[in-house]
Amino acid sequence: VIDPSDGQPFDELQRSNAQDIDTAVRAARQCYDAVWTKLSAAERGRLLMKLSAKVAEHTDELAAIEQRDCGKPTKQARADALALARYFEFYAGACDKLHGDTIPYLDGYSVLTWREPFGVVGNIVPWNYPMQIFGRSVGGALAAGNVCVVKPAEDACLSLIRVAQLAAEVGFPAGAINIVTGYGHEVGDALARNPGIDHISFTGSPKVGTLIQQVAAERHCPVTLELGGKSPQIIFADADLDAAVPMVINAIVQNAGQTCSAGSRVLIEQAIYEPLLERLGTAFENLRVGPATMDLDVGPLIRASQQQRVWDFLSDAQHANIPMVAQGRIVDEAPETGYYQAPTLLRDVPVNHRIAQEEVFGPVLSAMAFKDEDHAVQLANATQFGLVAGIWTRDGARQLRMAKRVQSGQVFINNYGAGGG
Ligand code: NAD
Repeated sequence: VIDPSDGQPFDELQRSNAQDIDTAVRAARQCYDAVWTKLSAAERGRLLMKLSAKVAEHTDELAAIEQRDCGKPTKQARADALALARYFEFYAGACDKLHGDTIPYLDGYSVLTWREPFGVVGNIVPWNYPMQIFGRSVGGALAAGNVCVVKPAEDACLSLIRVAQLAAEVGFPAGAINIVTGYGHEVGDALARNPGIDHISFTGSPKVGTLIQQVAAERHCPVTLELGGKSPQIIFADADLDAAVPMVINAIVQNAGQTCSAGSRVLIEQAIYEPLLERLGTAFENLRVGPATMDLDVGPLIRASQQQRVWDFLSDAQHANIPMVAQGRIVDEAPETGYYQAPTLLRDVPVNHRIAQEEVFGPVLSAMAFKDEDHAVQLANATQFGLVAGIWTRDGARQLRMAKRVQSGQVFINNYGAGGG
């Protein structure tokens, strides 16, 4: 386990294998059959609520663990722990409110649906928001009456191991939450293939999402996927720029840009392109990057290969003569062995360049100008992704038109990221 702030190893993890997955799946099944299905929905809810409170009590400890493991600045690490507490609180309340339907049919018939758990669920979690994603995939699965076998990302296991300990302390039965550490191509793959897994929840890259679907298809195992994004922030000339600028900045620098919903493209109406780029440029220049414990605007990237990935994108952009508007500054206290990247604002980025098409997963914002609404929609929809979009305009009719036309799972109007997953 390497601290991204200084690149130094400080701990070790078990490199588990398919046998360990099998052991965890058996433990989960036993718990499901003997204990978990015997609890009422209200009792499950009370357990989830206790875990929520316990996590909230341990916010500082969990944040400190996450900070060292993933390089998150203090405020961001704390926000993740609080979000985990909130997810469990939400799902605690949901446990006994998952109702079925009654369906009118012929005279003499009573037709109804029951919502049944799958059984043992496999949760594969990425490294960028381990606690938040654990909260929403494991919290939801437990609430619906399933038990879980969790495969955290190899770069981000420590906070989840601690959360599993806290779950045991508040009374979760053995086998309800299992954590198996190890490499994706080894234990992640073994988890997806294990015949004892009844449903897979995967959050991660589009490429691995495809692999998971292929493996799951071989045994008709249902899959829920949360994949990547190349989300646009669309700013019209009539927008409240004082409100927009800090949100546009935060949406690309939070977690050093390693966010599925990072607002990595800013589409700006031609009339305000130059003045807004100037404002954004000034804001970028003021951003400070440094060790997680300094709690600056931006911490390090997760690992050396991620840093290399961002460098490769930036060097491609340079070769294509894409102009750079501004960069933030890495502070002198940042060890040279840490994985730092200064936030970078690029302008006039061609829509087909790979930096405008692919997930960089670093603090790099690509700006481009649009002529009118149709052009904005065309640029916004010009990638293979469709996770999140932000629309900034005071014109109410346009807000709704744009929200319909931009192909995106979530659309924020005069806001970004509010409300979570
Ligand atoms: P990743 O796909 O490399 O890894 C995700 C998880 O899958 C890890 O636990 C990894 O060990 C495991 N894995 C890797 N190969 C596997 C295999 N062959 N079989 C089974 N499991 C395997 O993704 P990452 O780099 O950890 O995370 C970043 C990605 O996650 C980005 O694309 C980001 O957009 C996405 N993400 C999406 C959301 C969302 O809610 N939409 C949230 C966070 C991250």
